Amino acid sequence: MHEFKQLLRDAAGALGISLMENMCERFLRYYRLLIEWNEKFNLTSLIEPRDVAIKHFIDSLTCLLVHNPAGGARVVDIGTGAGFPGLPVKIVREDLHCTLVESTGKKVSFLRHVAGALGMTGVDVACGRAEDLARHVHYRASFDLALARAVAPLPVLLEFALPFLKTGGLFIALKGPAVQEELPASGNALNILGGTVKEVKTVFLPLTGDERKVVLIEKTGPTPEKYPRRPGVPQRRPL
Ligand code: SAM
Repeated sequence: MHEFKQLLRDAAGALGISLMENMCERFLRYYRLLIEWNEKFNLTSLIEPRDVAIKHFIDSLTCLLVHNPAGGARVVDIGTGAGFPGLPVKIVREDLHCTLVESTGKKVSFLRHVAGALGMTGVDVACGRAEDLARHVHYRASFDLALARAVAPLPVLLEFALPFLKTGGLFIALKGPAVQEELPASGNALNILGGTVKEVKTVFLPLTGDERKVVLIEKTGPTPEKYPRRPGVPQRRPL
């Protein structure tokens, strides 16, 4: 599995991110656990080493191309699934405190197992809906950075993410080219929830050339108390 580590190192290097040997080793162990658990639970449709390396691990690291969080920053990954993008970011930036929010119990079990097996500290796996957890005193308005990939259209995602952030905090949404249609539909949600789009960066993944849009949003004002609405309401009636 030397090739797997070299592939990761080269691909991250192409994005300007340098991976240390201990990080590559953790990615390899994460990959092995993903494949092992995937036989029992459906965690990912991608199983080939190259696909997981590029389309899960490297794709997750594109968050770091629009923002370099301060050491010790509190980061929340909403709808993390098998850990993307939060765990790869945490592997590269061990100094961050990372909360992984996921509503499916079997995925939560996987994430807790991976965090333990990789010997990671500063990882909190929160089992529940973002709409409920964002109302919890321990989580509401307490994060510096929120991340999300492949969870919901942007107007819905904003209602999940912005309540978790402190004013001045940042939200990074990993999206595909279709975000160009979601952005104009997000104006109302941004106004109501207190967010401003700072940047939409186009990234082409190394090796595959797949196009990604990394959207950086700043929380510019407090989110009104009534948001997020009850679980399921943001999807049924987007702002
Ligand atoms: N972010 C991961 C990725 O990019 O591979 C997982 C994407 S998967 C399509 C969406 C995940 O979000 C699922 O694991 C689902 O259980 C979780 N999810 C969806 N809505 C959620 C909510 N309101 N609160 C917490 N988790 C949610």
